[in-house]
Amino acid sequence: MTRFIFLGAPGAGKGTQAEMLAISHNIPHISTGDILRQAVAARSELGIQAKRFIDNGELVPDSLVVGLIRERLQQSDAEPGWILDGFPRNISQAHDLNALLEQLGESYRWVIYFAVEQETLIQRMLDRGRQDDNDATVRRRLEVYEEQTTPLIDFYQAQDRLKVINGNQGVEAVAQDLQLAIAP
Ligand code: AMP
Repeated sequence: MTRFIFLGAPGAGKGTQAEMLAISHNIPHISTGDILRQAVAARSELGIQAKRFIDNGELVPDSLVVGLIRERLQQSDAEPGWILDGFPRNISQAHDLNALLEQLGESYRWVIYFAVEQETLIQRMLDRGRQDDNDATVRRRLEVYEEQTTPLIDFYQAQDRLKVINGNQGVEAVAQDLQLAIAP
């Protein structure tokens, strides 16, 4: 059962670590942010509905995101496992995910929380220069993270599923700590 949830602020390095772990474990890296950006680029119905929320640094409505995760987790490449990056993003999505996994007869092994100081987050986001990485949106995304996503840390801690990684380090050091945290 190689299923992980990656939790952390925007700019925490979840995506980079998820990408590497997905390759080494041969499981899909499922990033709701990536899927939504692709939908926006393709101008699909989902993309059209999601665009203004993404541009403003707000969360896309739960119904849209939960729907796409429900479909994605049932694709055949997700059978041996997956890494969820950027989902769930609030307590309601976490409940929806638990309900969905119960339906599918699946469960996750660990929730990995990448802890990073605020200044580092801002610098990393401004450096990577994505379209929604401008000054105002970065600030709003960090606020949304504080308000809506950080309650998940206690939520998963209470379920004894949380592993905390020091994400302030360089990519290789974080990857090493991650390997130690998930070693059986
Ligand atoms: P990310 O690449 O994870 O930083 O996501 C980029 C943007 O996509 C976020 O700022 C949100 O607007 C949207 N998004 C990604 N994942 C979710 C989610 N689980 N729930 C709601 N909105 C999301």
